[in-house]
Amino acid sequence: MMPGARLTTLLIVTSFLSTAGHLGAPVHSGALITSHNVSSLDITSKIHTDHDTTTEASSDFGHIVEATPDGVFRPTFPADIAALIRLSLSQPTAPFTVAPRGKGHSSRGQALAAGGIVVDMSALGGRGHRTTVSVDGMFVDAGGEQLWIDVLHAALEHGLAPRVWTDYLRITVGGTLSNAGIGGQAFRHGPQISNVHELDVVTGTGEMITCSPEVNPALFFAALGGLGQFGVITRARIGLEPAPKRVKWIRLAYSDVHTFTTDQELLISKRASGSGFDYIEGQVQLNRTLMEGRRSSSFFSASDIARLTGLAIETGSAVIYYIEGAMYYDDNTATSVDQKLDALLEELSFVRGFVFVRDASYVEFLDRVGREEQNLRSAGAWDVPHPWLNLFVPRSRILDFDAAVFKGILRDTNPIGLILMYPMNKDKWDDRMTAVTPDEDVFYAVGLLRSAVAGGSDVEQLERENAAVLELCDLAGGIGCRQYLPHHASRDGWRRHFGAKWGRVAELKARYDPRAILSPGQGIFPPPLSPAAAASEPTTASAHTASS
Ligand SMILES: Cc1cc2nc3c(=O)[nH]c(=O)nc-3n(C[C@H](O)[C@H](O)[C@H](O)COP(=O)(O)OP(=O)(O)OC[C@H]3O[C@@H](n4cnc5c(N)ncnc54)[C@H](O)[C@@H]3O)c2cc1C
Repeated sequence: MMPGARLTTLLIVTSFLSTAGHLGAPVHSGALITSHNVSSLDITSKIHTDHDTTTEASSDFGHIVEATPDGVFRPTFPADIAALIRLSLSQPTAPFTVAPRGKGHSSRGQALAAGGIVVDMSALGGRGHRTTVSVDGMFVDAGGEQLWIDVLHAALEHGLAPRVWTDYLRITVGGTLSNAGIGGQAFRHGPQISNVHELDVVTGTGEMITCSPEVNPALFFAALGGLGQFGVITRARIGLEPAPKRVKWIRLAYSDVHTFTTDQELLISKRASGSGFDYIEGQVQLNRTLMEGRRSSSFFSASDIARLTGLAIETGSAVIYYIEGAMYYDDNTATSVDQKLDALLEELSFVRGFVFVRDASYVEFLDRVGREEQNLRSAGAWDVPHPWLNLFVPRSRILDFDAAVFKGILRDTNPIGLILMYPMNKDKWDDRMTAVTPDEDVFYAVGLLRSAVAGGSDVEQLERENAAVLELCDLAGGIGCRQYLPHHASRDGWRRHFGAKWGRVAELKARYDPRAILSPGQGIFPPPLSPAAAASEPTTASAHTASS
């Protein structure tokens, strides 16, 4: 159906609908759920169909996929989202799809909805801050639309902070919790999804449900890491810790991968003792990038880069690696932190002399990519295609991966962007969630975070390299990687991605979004069926299992 025609139908149907009083009250109201009567007129008046608005919601940070929605919905309250979903389900033909959009910082169209309705989550609460900190409870209740940078500042007002951070903070609570939310603190505390106590979720049946490990646990574990498939997260209760004040921010250089990974694994094994880093990541710098790339970065000065280039030449290494670590400290530990750092460095085998230390406030450190964003924006290099590929690589195969990818497929390339590589402990991931990781105690997050600055041909080349990496990784007989922030073009790809969890994923979908209207941009389930077609299907779960 043409976009305009679909929307006209929607408006006609809406005028016959009764109020959201009948649309289902919250099963249990959390702190941010506001119960109010939502009239059908309220709902349609919040759907914007003008060209500029729908165009803006047609692409994302990746700039690779485009899909135009029929409209963009700007909810004031979570109940508005419930009403929108009920409106979709009441359509006489097929329901329209509904895609919550955080900041649209996905790379492959995951927050898009071709011919459906995109929910602009940032409108919730009339753009006020929906964060409430409980000092006694050591948690923050944050709206799903909240940016992590705002959650940070709200918590810091009480001297507290969440424990786990993504590298970039201008992404939303609901967006990262739908994936996992990984970063340098995950080796100790697990991903962000392992640090949530409670959620408010609007399901694909239009119910507003509060859930936790004790109450409605199936929905809780489905929504966390659920790729937006089972409900819209409108509030998350996130655990807090006393906020550190300052950070020793360190990079250590390595010219060989074995020593680099041995040290990284030693460091993540120190998670229980107080003697290690509080944050551990790592980067891979290809030789050609060192020779021809930027002469300085927000961390390295021009002379640092000259030294690193010299190291690559001297050792004949095709790749230089850095461990990036952070040691938190405050007024009480300011006098002892250097000693603690020196003792730790003694245990490590980086190239002697190649240690780089910065001193930063906690906020400066956490918001480092925000500063990088400003630099890239001024250079016109932010709004470019980002064919990013993120993988989890089993520890037992990381050296094979390194040899085949960094010293093979990418050997003579000069990528613009970053390559990340750092290990995590699997026991910090909760297997009741549908997020998938390799089947080993330790696995590496590898991010090929490359930008295509030269236009179309550049994208094609990067995509060819990504395809070669994915072929190498293929589960059966390959390196056995799993994609993070996954994208699969076929149902079979998704089945293999979820592996043993596929049956559970399909069952949860049948329970919480049986018409498959939510987050269609992920491409996991086929678009919604009309009621007649749906009636002839046994269940969504078995239908999808059978068709895949
Ligand atoms: C510069 C940069 C750095 C990054 N660094 C990291 C990092 O260090 N670690 C990491 O883990 N990730 C990182 N990411 C990836 C980021 O986690 C994802 O882009 C994520 O999708 C969050 O972005 P968003 O809030 O804009 O969500 P969107 O892209 O808008 O949405 C992502 C998916 O979640 C769904 N969704 C959005 N909101 C909700 C909600 N409230 N409830 C249910 N489903 C919802 C959408 O429909 C979509 O399917 C980075 C991204 C960028 C651009």
